[in-house]
Amino acid sequence: MNKDFLMELLDTSSPSGLEKEVQLVWMNYMKEFSHKVESDNVGNAYAVLNPEAEFKIMIAAHGDEIGFMVKNIDSNGFIFLEKLGGISPKIAVGMKIKFLGEKEIVGIVGANAEHHGGVKEKLTINDIYVDCGFKNKEEAINFLNIGDMAVYKRSAELLQNNMIAGKALDNKTGSFIIAEVMKNLSSKKLDIGVYAVNTSCEETNQGGAYFAASKIKPNLSIACDVTFATDYPGVDTKDHGEYSLGGGPVLAKGSQINININKSLEESASELGIKLQYELTPRRTGTDADTIKFTGKGVPVALVSLPLRYMHSPVETASFTDMEDEINLLTHFILNLKPNFNMNPIEG
Ligand SMILES: [Zn+2]
Repeated sequence: MNKDFLMELLDTSSPSGLEKEVQLVWMNYMKEFSHKVESDNVGNAYAVLNPEAEFKIMIAAHGDEIGFMVKNIDSNGFIFLEKLGGISPKIAVGMKIKFLGEKEIVGIVGANAEHHGGVKEKLTINDIYVDCGFKNKEEAINFLNIGDMAVYKRSAELLQNNMIAGKALDNKTGSFIIAEVMKNLSSKKLDIGVYAVNTSCEETNQGGAYFAASKIKPNLSIACDVTFATDYPGVDTKDHGEYSLGGGPVLAKGSQINININKSLEESASELGIKLQYELTPRRTGTDADTIKFTGKGVPVALVSLPLRYMHSPVETASFTDMEDEINLLTHFILNLKPNFNMNPIEG
């Protein structure tokens, strides 16, 4: 497992709809482990093994991250924001923000001093603003345009017990996992085509996955994302279930999911001695899996997620042990996947 590659992905910005920077990094890494690497008109990046094979599996991870957009600049040069995906304004207070307009520029989200009443109890996105140090609006517009995108400026930290914390682990860990799976598979003989897709726009409209699956027309697909760990103070596990870091990859169960794929994933896990956790997605999964399923003539899907603490914060935390388990699980599943794999849940 090349942890440095995950660090590089985490350090590379990819606000939803502006994934170019991360896709170039991802595609460059994948060249060595794929027969074909390409991109498309909605910002997806593809890496393919055995592009001639008729039977195809698509493994998808979204490469975009949540962020901000410039909504307004006031006469004093303070910048007001719009949310790009599920970002929490409360958590943004006191953080550094990197704007990715024509000229990259850094600012901070101001925090009202305790002496002046402190930070408001309830914050909306309209209550926060970014201070780049500009004197006025005239100066600011030399650097920024309305609609420019921004992300937190923050490096990942390694924690004890093989854990990592930082921004955008949702879902750079997924981009990393599918890359490492391809790396493992690239030295093996395969009977099938494997399409790894680092999708765009999941955090905002899941549009990337739609284009990717429509283009590939896979026989089956596995989406790789993150899900809510509940092993930290203040979470009611009675309501939200018990999901722990180090507890293993999480398989989704519910009506969107093809049970034959899940069964085969479970067999792989038991052969490898990998622990699994289960999450319930009775209706929809809220991930690229939903979109992929409804493309073309329909695609049987499964969803494998990495447990993650502090979702959508700049300190999202995950375990390398779970990542390693997920990489091994998917590698083993794909190596054992034959073109006659029956996904029909009535027959299978
Ligand atoms: Zn995600």
